Amino acid sequence: MATKLEDIVSLCKRRGFIFPGSDVYGGFAGTWDYGPLGVALKKKIMNEWWKFWVEDRDDMFGVDAAIIMNPKTWVASGHAATFADPLVECLECKGRFRADKLADGINESVTTEEFHNLHAKCPTCGKENWGPIRKFNMMFQTHVGPIVDDTSVAYLRPETAQGIFTNYKNVVDSIYPSIPFGLAQQGKAFRNEISPRDFVFRSREFEQMEIEYFVHPDTWEENFEKLLKSVHEFLEEKMEIPAEKIHELEVAPEDRAHYSKRTIDVEFDYPIGREELMGIAYRTDFDLGNIQRESGKSMEYRDKMTGETFVPHVIEPSFGVERLLMAVLASSYTEEEKDGKTRVLLKLPETLAPFRFCVSPLLKNKPELVEKAKEVYDALRAKYGNVTWDDSGNIGKRYMKQDEIGTPKCVVVDFDTLEDGTVTVRDRDMTEQTRVKIEEL
Ligand code: ATP
Repeated sequence: MATKLEDIVSLCKRRGFIFPGSDVYGGFAGTWDYGPLGVALKKKIMNEWWKFWVEDRDDMFGVDAAIIMNPKTWVASGHAATFADPLVECLECKGRFRADKLADGINESVTTEEFHNLHAKCPTCGKENWGPIRKFNMMFQTHVGPIVDDTSVAYLRPETAQGIFTNYKNVVDSIYPSIPFGLAQQGKAFRNEISPRDFVFRSREFEQMEIEYFVHPDTWEENFEKLLKSVHEFLEEKMEIPAEKIHELEVAPEDRAHYSKRTIDVEFDYPIGREELMGIAYRTDFDLGNIQRESGKSMEYRDKMTGETFVPHVIEPSFGVERLLMAVLASSYTEEEKDGKTRVLLKLPETLAPFRFCVSPLLKNKPELVEKAKEVYDALRAKYGNVTWDDSGNIGKRYMKQDEIGTPKCVVVDFDTLEDGTVTVRDRDMTEQTRVKIEEL
């Protein structure tokens, strides 16, 4: 049976992964808060990404730029002028929507006339009485410093990419990387989405993991292919997302962002349908060229081997953490029917599961079992770190809870343990139980 989004949302709340933002005050549209299990999963995803893209390669380096950047950044990048979605209002119920999401076959540049000709119905009231399309800039504004006027306006970054471009020169001048090389950044991004929806899929505050890969202009095609191959390797091997659920969409020129000469959206079959998980774009020298013009500083790179001087071109693999996390959850969420009962489990990869082991004594009221189980728990914690303890309810309930949070192995200490130093290890996916010596865990 196909997984429903509600099942994942409900498990996330029930088990402490993800809660609606500001839940206690009735929520706050487009924001989500992570609980203990969600933080653990998110951090592991981000750490695996960093290891794969930065630590395990010798051509990638990290940066961590400020979220509030000089507003000139957003003028140079084109965001101040063009980072806008088509907003349309239903004149009947006053609902406001992103027009390009209300009908097929249109994109963000849809005009009022084109939209009206499509006769789309309002998703809230079902009527067809639309106002004109207005361009709505999605950047969140703030004021920096004690004076609130036009001169103190600044923005929360709508993408992490610009914090990389603005540091390109500093990095080149300080560590002299050989081209091609990439700069990677993880961090928050903010977009005042007109209609945030589908759990964390479209949020107003989210996290990105982006790479700007700087290449000689003549080599962009081969580097694009190599990075695209690595994207698949990361998603399929490190995140264990089934290859058949991942699809490439070659974005048509009229649908591409203003800076891009080639974009592939990598889509995933979410419970809400096939949607963009991440994108890889050839941004040419658009950004470095703009920075050069606006700042008056040269962005040229001098090749150490050939002496050639040029402004590098850029290929950008851009991941959203929340969309990746949702793909991981949707890929691992499983319901199994057994003896008329439904077993819910998250078949998370061992590297991503919030806990690697759960340790418990068979009986909570037998001090000798509790003591031995604590010993095993301490030893596993010292070895692996992410190990949890559970002595609540009966063993069946404990297994149910650990299945739902994706713990691969449950270790139970019983009376035989005291005799022969073995424990029962129960496997999450197979549910089979084996006897294993403590030191072999
Ligand atoms: P969409 O067309 O779905 O609005 P986009 O093409 O504008 O997305 P990009 O600007 O390419 O998205 O951003 C790069 C990545 O950041 C996306 O592939 C996605 O994973 C993530 N992302 C973008 N907007 C959001 C959002 N509102 N909430 C969560 N993740 C997002």
